[in-house]
Amino acid sequence: MKKIFATLFFITYILMNTTTGYAANNEQIKYTITFPEAQAHYADVEMTISGLAQKTLDLKMPVWAPGSYLVREFTRNIESLTVSSAGKDLPAVKTRKNIWQVNVTGKATVTVKYRVYAFEASVRTSFIDAEHAFLSSPDIFIYPDGMLNNPSTVHIVPYKGWTTVSTSLEKVKGDDFTRTAPNYDILFDSPLEVGTQDVFGFKVGATDYEVAMCGGGNYDKERIKKDFTRIIEQEAAIFGENPNKHYLFIVHNYFKGGGGLEHLSSTTLGATRDGYTHEGTYQSFLSLAAHEHFHLWNVKRLRPIALGPFDYDNENYTTNLWIAEGFTAYYQDVIVRRTQLYVPQNYLDLMARQITQLENQPGAKVQSVAMASYDAWIKSYRPNENSNNTTISYYTKGAIIAMMLDLEIIKNSKGKNSLDDVMAYMYNEYYKVKKRGYTDAEFKLALEKFAGKNLDEFYAKYINGVADIDYNNYLAYAGCQMRDELAGTNSAELGITMIANTRRVIVASVLRGTAAWDDGINVNDEIITVDGHPVDSREPLFGNKKPGDKIVVKLVRDGIEKDIPVTLKPSTTVRFKIEQLANATPQQLAVRKKWMTLQ
Ligand SMILES: [Zn+2]
Repeated sequence: MKKIFATLFFITYILMNTTTGYAANNEQIKYTITFPEAQAHYADVEMTISGLAQKTLDLKMPVWAPGSYLVREFTRNIESLTVSSAGKDLPAVKTRKNIWQVNVTGKATVTVKYRVYAFEASVRTSFIDAEHAFLSSPDIFIYPDGMLNNPSTVHIVPYKGWTTVSTSLEKVKGDDFTRTAPNYDILFDSPLEVGTQDVFGFKVGATDYEVAMCGGGNYDKERIKKDFTRIIEQEAAIFGENPNKHYLFIVHNYFKGGGGLEHLSSTTLGATRDGYTHEGTYQSFLSLAAHEHFHLWNVKRLRPIALGPFDYDNENYTTNLWIAEGFTAYYQDVIVRRTQLYVPQNYLDLMARQITQLENQPGAKVQSVAMASYDAWIKSYRPNENSNNTTISYYTKGAIIAMMLDLEIIKNSKGKNSLDDVMAYMYNEYYKVKKRGYTDAEFKLALEKFAGKNLDEFYAKYINGVADIDYNNYLAYAGCQMRDELAGTNSAELGITMIANTRRVIVASVLRGTAAWDDGINVNDEIITVDGHPVDSREPLFGNKKPGDKIVVKLVRDGIEKDIPVTLKPSTTVRFKIEQLANATPQQLAVRKKWMTLQ
């Protein structure tokens, strides 16, 4: 009877936990985190596991942080790991890069102690100093194998002077410093900020929002509250609901900062401390916030099938980051446009900038957006000097694809539908009804449903292929036109980029098909003179030379001076501008109005 009851309970629990897909056990897991040497960037973690009834315990740590597609080998920063039970040490044997194995036969409770070194300031890695601790959970919490669905509690003992904990993890008995996670997917998806951050809140609909500002800055709280509210309202309107009761923005203000990482109920943003009064920087900050917040639907809930339940030991491959990231990158600017905080042309300029970036990258002729997604782990997150020639950004091309599809859907539905309807449909169909991720084919079907046409050719050319994009075909739907502002200038180009922040001219990359590529200038070459004239990175390299002119580049390569004859070629660099045609037809104006949310 007892066994049957237990089995029924077990099945119910599995059914209730479809997002994680693991069974829960009866063990209790508690963490206590102290910072005796915060100034030297250490956290000391003590984990107690009780209720054990097994012979072998594998202690593991994720090798990557969801949302950031790179194996980062977090156990690199773990030291002094010990395991004990009732005061007696138990040997912990390393059996894999991220596993310690312990014989726990007859031990119901064990205590694991270890130290974590954290000095990588980013939104996806932990950072600790005397001012604050940012704990990005996957690189802090070792977990017992087989217990990913167990709840755990985290007790924080702050370093001297630290007063505040900011995290989306629920409080235990109202205690700010003791938090609980229902399972490890939630724990690993909930960073904790501990320090003296400036916290302020606001409410949007039924959701309580909190902003934790770390590192100071010239931000205007009231302006942020007002502008974030407009962004949040626009995003929730697309999906028809805001699934969070609470949501937290952790903002790290640096001398110069950026980047963000999405979570289910929070996000971490990097920002420039004194950039809030600079209009361009502030607008980028709003776009970043809109991007990460949009992810609470797109990727954290509506997700490619490969991205959950996560395999924390290995790469998790998907060909759909152009949707998860690219569509989010598209919407970050669409949403800011919809807040009406900036003029419509501002939005077109941002789109033109994305197209300019893609079209100036020789990799656009090499790597498809599906393969850019799949190889994120080895290419996008591990760029080298040749990346521009061989890869593209699934953010940039994904955003461009989203624009093309949005325009296609708006035109074909005569202004009735847009890409919004695809996102809302997919969210409802896969996150809410089917409670699983979508496959490539399922997302394509939804796009076809709203576009009212077969997209086989579109996918073959632009998703799985590298065909040239006829931008003006799509922009014409909205009575817009794109042109290259550099067309017809007949300027010559060498085809290199230089290492920044130095007056010396040191080659950082050589672009495929340019004069530098053809005539053999290499990365790391230091250019000394051109036609005998000394060069300086702040000056044009070869004055008024034209395509076809020959120059001699004197450079130093590995300590040896060389003279390289180079025949200059016409510049292939483009700079696009999107304009709204004054003589647009009523049909074009209807598409434009829907696309750009014109009043
Ligand atoms: Zn993103």
